[in-house]
Order: sequence, then structure tokens, then C-alpha cells
Amino acid sequence: MSLPPSSAPSSSAAPAAAANSPATLAKGALRRLALAKLEPTPANFARAYAEEAGEPAAAEHALPARHRPVIDRLAARCTDDPGLRTELGATLMAGRLDELPRLLERQAGAAVVQARQWAELVERLARGLERGSRHWTGGRKKDSLQRVLDACRSDGPRLQSRLRTLLSTWEADAPDEPVEAAEGGDATVGADGPSGAATPTAVTAPAEPPSGPAAGTGHAAELRAAAPPGHHPRIVEALATTVRAGLAPQEPRARELADELAALAERIAREGATISLAEGVAEVCQRVRCLYGLRHELVDELLGLCRTLTDGMAELAEDGSWAQGQAAALRQRLDGPQGARAVRAARALLSDTRERQRTLASQRAQARDALKQVIGQMLTEIGTLDEATGTFNTQVLAHADTVQAADTLESLAEAVRQMVQDSHAVHAVVHAARERLSAEHGRATALESQVRGLEAELRQLSEEVGTDALTQVANRRGLGKVFEVERARVEREGVEVAPLAVGLLDIDNFKKLNDTLGHAAGDEALKSLAARVKEWLRPIDHVARFGGEEFVVLLPATPVDEAQAALTRLQRRLSAALFMHDGREVFVTFSAGVTAWRPGEALEVALERADEGLYEAKRTGKNRTCIT
Ligand code: GH3
Ligand code: MG
Ligand code: MG
Repeated sequence: MSLPPSSAPSSSAAPAAAANSPATLAKGALRRLALAKLEPTPANFARAYAEEAGEPAAAEHALPARHRPVIDRLAARCTDDPGLRTELGATLMAGRLDELPRLLERQAGAAVVQARQWAELVERLARGLERGSRHWTGGRKKDSLQRVLDACRSDGPRLQSRLRTLLSTWEADAPDEPVEAAEGGDATVGADGPSGAATPTAVTAPAEPPSGPAAGTGHAAELRAAAPPGHHPRIVEALATTVRAGLAPQEPRARELADELAALAERIAREGATISLAEGVAEVCQRVRCLYGLRHELVDELLGLCRTLTDGMAELAEDGSWAQGQAAALRQRLDGPQGARAVRAARALLSDTRERQRTLASQRAQARDALKQVIGQMLTEIGTLDEATGTFNTQVLAHADTVQAADTLESLAEAVRQMVQDSHAVHAVVHAARERLSAEHGRATALESQVRGLEAELRQLSEEVGTDALTQVANRRGLGKVFEVERARVEREGVEVAPLAVGLLDIDNFKKLNDTLGHAAGDEALKSLAARVKEWLRPIDHVARFGGEEFVVLLPATPVDEAQAALTRLQRRLSAALFMHDGREVFVTFSAGVTAWRPGEALEVALERADEGLYEAKRTGKNRTCIT
């Protein structure tokens, strides 16, 4: 039976032209089925489609309807594309084998696109896993990835779509300059964001010419597969912004390169992403890399200079002096994992050292002046004594003459009385001088032992003691010790069972507090904060003063999100509390960064990471805790 022709204008009288698109043919076929009041079963649809395509004869080669299930399965094996699948099934059922090459070619094209999409997705996943995020820790990323894989591993298109959604979430959580999340399936490289860690496909793709104007394959197609055309200028703009942010703003070369990139972004917006523009971007990126390389060298050189200065300081310091201990600590800090934190810690230590040196020097000068005064005093005393004894000698000689010349008992008695009087007088002078000399000697001894005590105290502070003198919590040395204990525990119990969270706290606006209320109030604030953190955390947690107004907390057996919650609770409690200084109420808040310690890494490395969170917390308004 032949179906009535559909009433669509394109196919009302004669069969549709061969040029009709599959969509038009499919519509016509459906109309035919509706007119014939036939159900649109696959067999009926295939027949109607063949007739609509003007191939009624092909119906002779049509397969019987019972083969439909196996044909459908075959088509499903061939492609994931539902439209192509239906068309392939219908073509096979209708026996229009001469249409098969075209359909297979379409399928092969779709497979290439699919493979590219997968490759690009895997690349994004790898970058996404490596890149730091504000809230997505490495562990959380891996868990969520595993969940998506478990849920859709047997459904390719769904798996792809869920992975894209997941990636968009990660990318929207990039730590620096926010980049709009890549919506939908195709937006990919724009989300590389400010880190500039990955270079867009457009830049690294091989510069082979496109194979033809259709450009279903080749470089141009690759550009299209990488990102929708509207995103290309955004990618280059993001690069330009990264170059500006990555180098000092006053650096003229950086400005120049960023301007070149901005100009290229403009041209891409106007002309589209052509091969020559992509090569232009790649070439500018190469120069940017050179410039970054030079900057890294500069940083290395500066660190080298710091080490040399530190060694010089150690050599200049007296043997066994506390300054040698400080120099050794400084060297240790500079030799550890490098980053802003290590350099800042070294600088803080240096300024601390300088401050103490100044105090010590001025106290020594005071003691020296006092000693000089004492010695001067003693010399005067000795002079007085000398004068008194000299006078006495003269008097004794005079008395001897008087005794020789005495001829009466009365005159002899008078001479003796005079002698006794003079000797009493000289005795009193000698006694008073001896008293004063012994008092001065006592003062000199006290001053000397004061200087000795001061030096010993400093030496002890810098080398031995594990407790911070001001706040009475652990200092860096103490922190190092408890960290070793906690590290051993995690290694024994396993990081999954007992994860160790590391937090870095920094008081907000502390300089202002010092400036407005005075250094003593600042010291009170440090003491008050340390005491409260210690009191409000669990007994198994550790608090240490890391330097200046920075504290470190180690929270054993605490996943990082719980650590964030604990520190946030602490911040809320602290915001509601105050301490009194000179009858005035003072509020202290802090910002914090928290991270999960990774087995095998040094504490400094975890602290560098926590510092990123701290930086983010300061940047986004202070008095908060961010995870890194
Ligand atoms: P932010 O909120 O960004 O952290 O600003 P801030 O003012 O707290 O930070 P900044 O690093 O500019 O200032 C820290 C100040 O802490 C500078 C220093 O004088 C002061 N400070 C460091 N150690 C001590 C200390 O032992 N006692 C007192 N009173 N002040 C200290
Ligand atoms: Mg600070
Ligand atoms: Mg601060």
C-alpha cells in the first residue's frame, strides 16, 4: 500500500526534491502518516519517509517490520546522536543502502567531535583538580568526581553533561579574579581564569590550514570546538589581565605585552579567531613567559642576597650571642619552602632582632654610663682619702716636733690630746669613704649582673624556650614540636581517620589598635586573643604565636570544613567579647585561612596554603575564615 502524499507545499503533487533536508522529509513523512491515520511506528515512519524522499521503489527493498528491533540496536551501537540514530534505522529499514555512506560520514564526524569534546573535558578536569579553589579542596573535588562517575558511567552523554556542570562549579570557585562559570557544554577555556595555568586550545593548536571552506575538520573547527566564538576575546582579555596582575604594574614591558594582548582580543572580537591571530597570541605569550622567567630569577637572586646578609650577621655577632641564634633561625626560614610567607616570616624575625638589638644596645649603654659614673665617684673618694691621710701625715710630723720640743707634762699632754683628735678625724673620713666605696662597688656589681641577665634572657628566648613570653602560648619552636607529635599521630592513624587541620590567624587592623590605644593595649589584645582561642578550642587543639600578630592553630582529627566551622564559631564569640584597657572597651577580631595538612608535607607548606585562605579572608572583608 502506498501512503497518500502529504499536503505540505513542498511535496503536495510530486515527491519531494532530493535536495530536501532530512528534517523537511521527516515532517512530510509525519504528515503522510497523519493523513493515512497510521500510527508513527518506526516501520510506518520509514516507509513514509522513503516515499516523501521520492523513492517509492525503495520500498521494494524494505526490510520486514520484524527486523526493526535489531536494526534499532545496530543504529544505537553506531551513534549517540538520537537524530542520526533514527535516520540510520529508517534508512536501513527502507533498504536505501546508497544513503548509508553519507550517514556513516556524518557519524564519523560526530565521533571526531565527541573525541575532541572528551579530550578537552579530560584536560579541563586535570586542570580543575590541580587548580586551587576557595571552597573546593582537592579531596572534595575527587569525591564529587567519583560520585558523578558512579552515577553515569554507562551513559556517555549524561556523563559528559554532569562532568561539565561539575567543572563549571569548580571553575566558578577560582581563588582569584572571578571568571564567569562556563555554562552549557562548550564553554571551556575561558574558565582557565587568572591563573593562566593553561593556554587556550586556540593558542597551542597546530597551525595547519583548514581543510576546506566547510571546515568540519582542521584547525578552524578545533577553534570552534574549544570555545564558542564569542568567548575567544574573553580568553585573550583574561590573559592580558593575568599579565598585568602577574607583573609589577610599573613594569613597562608588562604593560606593553598586556596592551598587545588587549589589542589582539579586540581584533579577535572583530575578525573572529583566525590562525594568524592565534599565532600572534602564542607569540606574545612566549614573550610573557620570558619576562616571568626573569622575574623568578630576580626573586631567586634576592633570596640569595638575604642568605648572604644573614650569614654576614651571624659572622659579625659575638660568639654564643643570642644574635647568632636569631641568624640561624633566619637562615632556616630562608632555606625552607619559599613563598611570600617564608620571606615575610624572615622579615618579621629580622625586624624583631633589630628591635631587641636596639633595646639591648641602649641598656648596655646605660649600664656603661652608670659604671663610668661609679668609677668617677670612686676616684673622688680615693682622692678625698688621699687628701685626708696626707694632711694627717703632715699633722703627725708636726705633732712629733711638738713632742720633741715639749718640756712640761702639760705641753706633752696637750700634744697627745691634739694627736688623738686628729686621728679620730682621719678615721671618720676613711670610714665614710670606705662605706661609700663599698656602696658604689655594690651598684657596679648589680649593673654588671643586670647586663649579663639581659643577654642570657635574650639568648634563651631565641634558642631554647618553646613558649611565647607575652602570650604564654607556644612560639614557633613550641609549634614545631607539637607539629611533629601530630604528624606522627596522623601517620599512625591514617589521614582519613584523623585528618589534621592547620589554621593561620591574623588579627584585624592591629596596627590601628596600636596606633590609637598604644603598644601596651596591643600587647593586651595579643594576650587576650591567645587566652580566648586556647580556652574556646578543644583541649586537644594547639595554639601557637607564629610571630607579630599571627597565630597558628593545629586541630587534630578535624576535617577542614569542620575546622572552618570551629574557627568561624570562635570568630563569632570573639566579636561579641571585649577586653578592658585603661577603662576602655576594646574589641579584637581576626581573619583566618585553614587547610588540611597533606601527609608528607612540611608545616611551612601547609601554612603557605593556609596563608592563601587568610589573604582571601582579608580581601573579602576580614573577620572570616576561608578554606584552601
Ligand atoms: P590587617 O587587618 O590587614 O592584618 O592589618 P594589620 O594592621 O593587622 O596588619 P599589619 O601587618 O599592617 O600590622 C601589624 C602590626 O602589628 C604592626 C606591628 O607594629 C604590630 N605588632 C607586631 N607584633 C606586636 C607585638 O608584639 N605587640 C604589639 N603591641 N604590636 C605588635
Ligand atoms: Mg599580619
Ligand atoms: Mg593583621
